[in-house]
Order: sequence, then structure tokens, then C-alpha cells
Amino acid sequence: MDFNLENIKKEYSNCDCGQKHVLNIKDVVIESGITSQVGEILKKNGFKSKLLFVADKNTLGASIGILESLKDFSLTKKIYVDLREATISESKVIMELLKDNDGVIAVGTGSIHDICRYASAKLSKPLCLFATAPSMDGFASYCAPLTDGNFKITYPAKSPEVIIADTKILAKSPKHLKSAGFGDMVGKYVGLIDWKVSSLITGEYFCQKVWDLTKTATDYIMSLADRITLDDEESASSVFKGLLLTGIGMSFVKNSRPASGTEHILSHFWECKKLLEGKLSDFHGKKVGVATLLIMREYGELAKKERVKAKKEVVDWEDVYYNYGALKDEVIALNTPDTITDGVLLSKIEENWPKIREIILSMPSYEQIKLAMIKAGCALTTEEIGVSEELKEQGLKYHPFMRRRMSLRRLSNMIE
Ligand SMILES: [Zn+2]
Ligand SMILES: [Zn+2]
Repeated sequence: MDFNLENIKKEYSNCDCGQKHVLNIKDVVIESGITSQVGEILKKNGFKSKLLFVADKNTLGASIGILESLKDFSLTKKIYVDLREATISESKVIMELLKDNDGVIAVGTGSIHDICRYASAKLSKPLCLFATAPSMDGFASYCAPLTDGNFKITYPAKSPEVIIADTKILAKSPKHLKSAGFGDMVGKYVGLIDWKVSSLITGEYFCQKVWDLTKTATDYIMSLADRITLDDEESASSVFKGLLLTGIGMSFVKNSRPASGTEHILSHFWECKKLLEGKLSDFHGKKVGVATLLIMREYGELAKKERVKAKKEVVDWEDVYYNYGALKDEVIALNTPDTITDGVLLSKIEENWPKIREIILSMPSYEQIKLAMIKAGCALTTEEIGVSEELKEQGLKYHPFMRRRMSLRRLSNMIE
């Protein structure tokens, strides 16, 4: 897969959608055996000598040669044992350390990178991501999900100025992380449907070019399904580029529409509910993949309807709030004084149905996605991600209310 940052920037600089698509990312280097040159790449991109180095034992262990490559820098090292959860308190620890440094390098795409993205955005200091696994797509995003107590909140953050990935390391990364990256990618099909449906029904901002970018990247990764878990540099590199492209799409439109739909919200619902019980969730992409299958099955059923009769959405709000428990106040704030379905004209749903149907049918079917996920070694059931049957059903029914966002799932509440 070709990836040229300058070409992408140029191609999107004058878009018809009217929004200026800008990118914080200055340099992307994805090459085999590049670890020994990390120091040189940082210098070339203006990183000064005092550098904060953040990793955990796993990501540092995978990045052989990285410390040697940084020998010209004066390093402050923060090495975690195994950072599974990105918390606001850890972000503050990083902020304190970063105050005395000129910039930061985060070794690892997940939680480590999220706390660094938050801290570097707060202090306006340059950030480099050294990726060790193609496991999720949030790394090029403009915001970071951080846990505060038992809540997970999305905070303003930034995408890194420099992204470096050594395809030798990506290829050797654990299989379950590569499969998780694939699960995060198939979720884009739901996201793409939801975004287009919302633009038709609510007039929400939409960019066809960014939509196409995500669709192309996702189709490409789908075609690699049977190679995902191999120790193969080319496949690992392609998956990483696909994840990066969808992240760039999010940055371009300054919202998560191109890369996440109702499947991400469902996964988020499960995660929050488990967090309230003090339980950690499984890997992001692993959960998103399972949620994608559940949603695509529902969307496939909807696509069987040639015509629809629309009705006003009827919500038992007391029941909704009860099911959110401690998250109730957040949900009330998102749905009062009005909720996203209130202004939707029933005629609009009925008139646009043929188009909506066409959008669903233009994506791979539930069966095709499931088959690809089997090949890619993904989890397929809620059981495999530690979500009980009860929590699964609760999530399916109530998750749309935790966002003020139209999705086909939410719209289906308005279809007879
Ligand atoms: Zn555009
Ligand atoms: Zn994701």
C-alpha cells in the first residue's frame, strides 16, 4: 500500500466540502529496520536534546536498539510495567515530567501514547509516536480517551508530529494485537454507513473525499484478512498504514465520524459498565470487532426492507436512565432539553430509504465480515471479550443514548 504524507496533504488541501483539512502530522516513516535511525529522524524534525521517553516493559522490550539510537539526547525515562489503562492521573504525571523536557517520544500506540498525547497537547510540546503494534487507529486522532475514576472521557489531545514504525517490530507484535487492529478496521463499515445516513437525515456535515479515503483503506485491509496474524512485514505494514489513514481522516474533519460509528459507542458502553464495577475491558479493537458483527447483522436485516414506514421515536427515559446507573447525569445532559431524533421529519426517512438501503448494500455483508474476521483471528462473540449475555443485550438496546449523534441504529427506533 502506498503512503505518501505530502501527497495526501496536497490532495486534501482544497476540498469541495468547504472544510479546511489540516494535519498536525509532519513526518511519517514506516520502514523495515528503522529503529536504529529514530534519533536522526527526531533531530531532522526539530526535536531538541531534552527528551522524555515513555514506554512500558512490553513495548520497550520489542523496540531493540531504540535507546542506542537516542544516545545524543538527554533522556528522562518513564517505563511502566504494563500500562493497560490511560488515566488522567498518569497523564498528569507525564505532564510534570514533560515540563522539564523539550519533547516526548511515546513507545506504543495504545494507553502510553494516549497519556502522552494529552500531556504534550496541554504543554504544546512536540510528540513522536514510535509504534510497536498495528492494534488500533486512535493514534492519529485529535482527542484522547482517558479514564477518570470510573469514568472514561474524551479529552482534547493532539496527533503526533512524527510517527515512526519499524515494520520488523510490527510484524513480530503479538497476534492478538494484530487481530484487534483488524477488528478496529472492520468497524469502519458501520461508521461509514452511520455518517452518510446522518448527513442524509440530519444534514450533518459530510465529506465524500474523507469518506472515500476510509472506505478504500478498510476494503484494502479486508483483502488482507488471511495474512493478518502472519509474521509478515508487508501485511503488518499495510494494516498499520490503513489504521493511520483512517486516523488521518478523523484529523481532517476534526471529528471521529469517518472511523467510528455506533459499534464504537456499543463497545464504549460495555467498557464503561465494566469500569463501574472496577473491571478492566479487553483490547479496544477486539471489542469493536465483536460490536461490529452485532450491528452489521442488524443493518443487514434493515436492508431487506424495500420500503419503510417511519414513526416518532418513543423512549421510556426513566428506563434509559435507570440502565445507565452512575452514568445517568451524562446521559441526561446529552438528551435534554431535546434528543437527536426530535427534529427528524418522518417523510425524510421514508424518502431517503432507497438511498440508505443502497449504502448498507454497498458494504460487505455481516457474513463476509464474519468470514474475514475468522481468517484474521478476531474474537467473534461477546463471551470472548468478557461481556455477559445480559450486558450485551443492555448495550444493544441503550448504547445510542450516550452520544448526541444520529446513526442508522438510532434511526431504526423510528422505523415500524
Ligand atoms: Zn472535505
Ligand atoms: Zn477504534
